[in-house]
Amino acid sequence: MSETLVLTEQHGHVRRLILNRATARNAQSQQMLEQLDAAFDAAAADPQTRVVVLGAVGPHFSAGHDLKQAQAERAEFTVEERWAYEQRVYFNYCLRIWDFPKPTVAQVQGACVAAGLMLANMCDLIVASEDAFFSDPVTHTMGAAATEVLIHPWVLGLRQAKELLFTGERLGAAEAKALGMVNRVVPRERLEDDTLALAQRIAQAPPFAMQILKKSLNRSVDVQGMRQALSAHFDLHQLSHVTEEYRQTKEGGLATAIARGAKA
Ligand code: ZN
Repeated sequence: MSETLVLTEQHGHVRRLILNRATARNAQSQQMLEQLDAAFDAAAADPQTRVVVLGAVGPHFSAGHDLKQAQAERAEFTVEERWAYEQRVYFNYCLRIWDFPKPTVAQVQGACVAAGLMLANMCDLIVASEDAFFSDPVTHTMGAAATEVLIHPWVLGLRQAKELLFTGERLGAAEAKALGMVNRVVPRERLEDDTLALAQRIAQAPPFAMQILKKSLNRSVDVQGMRQALSAHFDLHQLSHVTEEYRQTKEGGLATAIARGAKA
């Protein structure tokens, strides 16, 4: 039987989906992302569920994609294979969460790095604990042009997104809130309860009106070209995977990242 990498809990009208791979700092394996996509599908189909909370077990929300698995299973991928894989598992799965018909709230503690940051930002709101931090260092560490979904300027503003990505440095929870990327910052011990309370508050509204409201709000960035910009970045991101610079940078960065992941 396959491992349960996403747990589901129902709290009245709120469904909590919980990344369940604490030993690997919730590194997103292909299996986890497939289970998460299926869990969102089930939540969309359930009429009792009005709001989804996306959380994670353990000290960290997510350290990013499972690079160990990527190295073991996809290092020899052709351009065509990588393109198809990343489009389906990284880009489309993410955008499906962005397009999820009901409101979503990310519940973030500890590391929220690279694909972790990308995933959390697919949710409508973010509640972070005081110890949470956000970063996307993959240009520095891997030689790839950021992560697959360049959501950063849309949730941070252009200038702050540039600083985050150009430096690869961490953004603390309080700072992320001040910049508008995070809605609320709470003590770690209150993270689950406070996020659930916020979700319950949203779930009190008539659900169909809420779904339409979300659709209209998302369209307000679509008409500014968000989807086109994300698609254009995805295409160029693929180019950055096949440069000599990427090959050289990745060798060092991957070894470090995997060693760090194995330790945690
Ligand atoms: Zn990629």
